[in-house]
Amino acid sequence: MYEGFGIRRSVESFGEAVLDELKDRFEKIDRIAEKNQLKVIAAMQKNKASEACLGTSTGYGYNDLGRDTLESIYADVFHTEDALVRPQITCGTHALSLALSAILRPGDELLSPVGKPYDTLEEVIGIRPAAGSLAEFGITYAQADLKEDGSFDYEAIEKAINERTALVTIQRSKGYQSRPSFSVEQIGELIAFVKKKKPGVKVMVDNCYGEFVEENEPSDVGADMVVGSLIKNPGGGLAPTGGYIAGTKECIELVAHRLTSPGLGKEVGASLGILPSYYQGLFLAPTVTASAEKSAVFAAKLYEKLGFMAIPAGEEERHDIIQALTLKTPEAVEAFCGGIQAASPIDSHVTPVPWDMPGYDSPVIMAAGAFVSGSSIELSADGPMREPYNVYFQGGLTWYHGKLGILMSLEYMVRRGCISEKNLERMAE
Ligand SMILES: *Cc1c(COP(=O)(O)O)cnc(C)c1O
Repeated sequence: MYEGFGIRRSVESFGEAVLDELKDRFEKIDRIAEKNQLKVIAAMQKNKASEACLGTSTGYGYNDLGRDTLESIYADVFHTEDALVRPQITCGTHALSLALSAILRPGDELLSPVGKPYDTLEEVIGIRPAAGSLAEFGITYAQADLKEDGSFDYEAIEKAINERTALVTIQRSKGYQSRPSFSVEQIGELIAFVKKKKPGVKVMVDNCYGEFVEENEPSDVGADMVVGSLIKNPGGGLAPTGGYIAGTKECIELVAHRLTSPGLGKEVGASLGILPSYYQGLFLAPTVTASAEKSAVFAAKLYEKLGFMAIPAGEEERHDIIQALTLKTPEAVEAFCGGIQAASPIDSHVTPVPWDMPGYDSPVIMAAGAFVSGSSIELSADGPMREPYNVYFQGGLTWYHGKLGILMSLEYMVRRGCISEKNLERMAE
């Protein structure tokens, strides 16, 4: 059947040879998915999710049972006091921006103890000037870079904490960087350190791409807020838009007042018929995340064998669903993305090309043939067109689609002359 997709025999056999080595890995991923599946079902049962919750509300959205129940379910899944889960939160960046601007006041300082934050946050914070940034409101930003080996520089962090430090932001996933992603355990150690240095400081974790990859979440180890996008892991591929913030009662109240209006908070916000996809998406999220993770591990192993650098490495423990591959040339990045696109159920006939995407400082190429536009829990690949020509691969609602996408990416790399077929045949033996 792979031949029907134009995938040559040598690519397929090489893929199968790589897969033979991944059985134990896949079994571990399945065990975590099982635990998270039970966690989600238990939260739904505890909160008495009912058929009535799958209805809709319009206008102000007062007394929206489905919305309020879903937020309690999220709070239970993340073991927090409260949560906001809303279609009015337009994306991950919006959710993060909302959380930052809800907590910080003029004169406060925001600290990132893990180096540079995600590209789009640079404009939110004002590292790159933008209208409405935190900087415009007199909120300053400090950063402690990671050590060369990717570990926390506790000395620099201690120095960066001062009397104005009000919020510490920790990005769990590497995003478009080559640093490692952090385990929940590492994040817990970092939180304990900053809270010991400054009791009362609030900690927010950018949880994008990390949800359900481990048994625990950063909110289990002291984060005051965890923030993410519903078109990534927790939406399970079904949520068509939205974001969430789960955290302490105090934080969520401030965030709700920022999202809607002081005085109104969580009480308003029509759900407009979107709730069935949120409920069912959350229900599917643990297994969807596992599929994405298997795809990532497969990609890492396969490209590593062909001499490319994979971050994380094929054998390394994973803390998110993003797989970075250093492909070294712009041609290879385009070929890789072309293959992922060609394997998609939607828009398989189009060719991805680099473009100047808002919020990013160099042209970005994106491959996505998604049911939900821009969804990166669906099989997708993207990369900024700059040295060292990393491609960031993520998603796969089903493992079999992930497998097809990766084989197709390899086929395209071979066709483009980025990998020699002889080499492939030799390695498959
Ligand atoms: C995706 C992502 C964001 C931003 O989310 P958008 O939905 O693209 O705005 C922020 N941080 C990290 C680590 C992400 O992966």
